[in-house]
Amino acid sequence: MKNFEYKRVCTLEEVFHLLGQHQEKAMILAGGTDLLVKMRNKTLKPEILIDIKGIPGLDEIRYDPVEGLHLGALASIHRLETCPIIREKFPAISEAAGYLGSFQIRSRGTLGGNLCHASPAGEMAPCLISLGAKLRIVGSAGERWVLLEDFFTDPGKTVLQRDELLTAVQVPTPPPQTGCKYTKYGIRKAMDLAIVGVAVALTLDAEKDKCKEVKIALGAVGPIPLRAKKGEARLRGQKMDETSIAEASLLASQEAQPITDIRASAEYRRKMVQALTQKTLKQVQEALS
Ligand SMILES: Cc1cc2nc3c(=O)[nH]c(=O)nc-3n(C[C@H](O)[C@H](O)[C@H](O)COP(=O)(O)OP(=O)(O)OC[C@H]3O[C@@H](n4cnc5c(N)ncnc54)[C@H](O)[C@@H]3O)c2cc1C
Repeated sequence: MKNFEYKRVCTLEEVFHLLGQHQEKAMILAGGTDLLVKMRNKTLKPEILIDIKGIPGLDEIRYDPVEGLHLGALASIHRLETCPIIREKFPAISEAAGYLGSFQIRSRGTLGGNLCHASPAGEMAPCLISLGAKLRIVGSAGERWVLLEDFFTDPGKTVLQRDELLTAVQVPTPPPQTGCKYTKYGIRKAMDLAIVGVAVALTLDAEKDKCKEVKIALGAVGPIPLRAKKGEARLRGQKMDETSIAEASLLASQEAQPITDIRASAEYRRKMVQALTQKTLKQVQEALS
């Protein structure tokens, strides 16, 4: 690994000052579980690491029925998995966090790091996209909010500017009769990236018969996490039965943009999107009935 300078900061102002001073030579360090791997294999060679773990409040998790769920960017994946209020109100987030890596990686890795690393197979994006999460991004020029589904631009790339930091993720409180689930498919049960990830957030009407609203988000089957909007449109306002669920799942698989790599072929991934979307939609519907 190339030598680098290490700075531990306690305020956002210090981060912006250092980013402005060192430009592309500087990188943000959170848990380091992605960054240090890339530094060791020399894919990245930053000259200065800005450790943000000492900034107070950036790991806060709080819930308010009106505001929704606030997740600080430095909240560890382990806390997302185990936090009682998340398990109660947003179980799909805990479920997704529980799939990520090992206990050690979950204890060290952060939500902000997982999203900013922008892996197409990243564990946390699909379920947060399906829940309509938005991101608070702060830079030297001020703050802005971006929907998570608009955050990713390419593998490893996001809309974050050089002088910006992700500080928090806000998840709105879902409407009544809403269920959400994330299904990960990988070769091994632990320590493996997803071959396909499917998240569904479904709201049923008062009679629990028709789909009032649905978001289907797909991971590991495109350059960035994707919404299956045609699949969603097939269900919105429609009766949730075998036919509509099967057709929506087929549409979702056609919207996927998978590639062939060492984990699976594009064709296999597409079939798995169809099967997992169908399974996940049915599971959420059953849980709501
Ligand atoms: C053995 C192993 C298994 C893994 N398994 C999985 C898995 O199953 N699923 C999965 O999704 N991931 C997996 N990962 C990847 C990794 O652990 C996660 O992505 C983790 O959440 C990254 O968080 P971090 O805090 O360690 O990020 P870091 O490594 O600190 O940072 C990652 C990137 O994000 C930037 N960054 C971090 N925080 C911010 C911020 N607040 N604002 C702006 N930029 C920021 C950094 O500059 C860096 O470019 C695995 C990694 C390892 C080593």
